[in-house]
Amino acid sequence: MFDVVVIGGGPSGATAADDLARSGHKVALIDRDGRIKPCGGAIPPRLVSDFDIPEKQIVAKIKTARMVSPSQRSVDIPIENGYVGMVDRDVYDEFLRKRAESAGAKRFTGTFRTIERNEAGTFVHFKDKALGKNVALETKLIIGADGARSSVARAEVPGGDKIPYVIAYHEIIEAPAKSARYDPERCDVIYDGEISPDFYGWVFPHGHSASVGMGTGQNGIDLKDATAKLRKSSGLDGCKTIRKEGAPIPLRPMDRWDNGKDVILAGDAAGVVAPSSGEGIYYAMVGGRVAATATAACLASGRARDLKLARSMFMREHKTVFRVLASMQNAYYKSDDRRERFVSLCHDVDVQRLTFEAYMNKKLVRARPMAHVKIGIKNLAHLMGVISPNRI
Ligand SMILES: Cc1cc2nc3c(=O)[nH]c(=O)nc-3n(C[C@H](O)[C@H](O)[C@H](O)COP(=O)(O)OP(=O)(O)OC[C@H]3O[C@@H](n4cnc5c(N)ncnc54)[C@H](O)[C@@H]3O)c2cc1C
Repeated sequence: MFDVVVIGGGPSGATAADDLARSGHKVALIDRDGRIKPCGGAIPPRLVSDFDIPEKQIVAKIKTARMVSPSQRSVDIPIENGYVGMVDRDVYDEFLRKRAESAGAKRFTGTFRTIERNEAGTFVHFKDKALGKNVALETKLIIGADGARSSVARAEVPGGDKIPYVIAYHEIIEAPAKSARYDPERCDVIYDGEISPDFYGWVFPHGHSASVGMGTGQNGIDLKDATAKLRKSSGLDGCKTIRKEGAPIPLRPMDRWDNGKDVILAGDAAGVVAPSSGEGIYYAMVGGRVAATATAACLASGRARDLKLARSMFMREHKTVFRVLASMQNAYYKSDDRRERFVSLCHDVDVQRLTFEAYMNKKLVRARPMAHVKIGIKNLAHLMGVISPNRI
């Protein structure tokens, strides 16, 4: 009998299993094998410190972010007092799973099938890869951390089948040498309706390789064609392609993360990805951590309502940043005129500082009220169209 069975061994599930094992719980971690999670792999320094990530996992440290507008104007934002880290998900996820295992979690490789409840207890059924047959694990509680379009969410939690998504697609290429166009310490973020009508495109260096991709929530967009255009306009069309892959990114945290009984969701399974940036690794790991705290509380008290702690702890910390990012996406990702204005706004040094401080430290800094007032006025002026998008 396990205390908790965690389904899915990505950043959220591996973190939940690690935390629970370290606090002395009997925990199982089930992950299906064989697919590298499609992901740009960009993480903030706050993740590295909060989750004790060793330096060798960071394959590139990005010191500048280049924002590119539809008219190809660009602004280089220096990342002061820090960096954006890049991780390779095949290595990173396995590191997190192994860490959970060495903390005492029992690891299984296989595909989750169903949850069965009967007089004898609660059982998680999965197809064990090594045995080639179905196996059932008896447990008290279950964490569903099986990613976007989670089977656990759809089967167990109201609203789990209705999460809105964008589809993101990227190509992993061999990185070219440093040149006037490509810098292994710079990430490019491309706001251009030709590349994405409602999200953005990116070039993220990863040492020997780079991730080049885009996302969209609109049907009928040819993701491969848009990425080919992006590679061409970035001078990366001649680089060797290593992998091509895509996956959904959820757009909105679910209103409920638990089933009021014995199941709780974490990470993409609960729809938790930052609006506007699509950043999900940090939030998945926080989601895994709060799910571990909530299940531990529920096991200790016997009260199912303690499972609700996970969402409330998460929202207390991150709700405001999510709201600001969602209104930014609603305001600026609508048309090329708005995208042009957004990149124009990024010239402002206060916008640069506040944006990157918020990204790196996951807090909105309130230290400089006049900077907020100035940004607010500029923002309003751009949205009302009273200043030209070309004016800095
Ligand atoms: C193209 C793309 C680019 C992205 N770029 C970035 C970025 O640069 N930075 C960033 O922060 N975020 C990025 N994201 C988002 C980020 O990848 C996710 O938010 C994050 O991986 C969520 O972690 P998770 O643990 O919740 O889910 P996942 O990472 O999806 O992990 C789920 C795990 O569950 C397992 N699983 C699924 N179904 C089953 C099953 N039935 N049985 C057993 N196991 C199962 C999977 O094997 C997987 O290991 C990107 C996403 C995409 C699609």
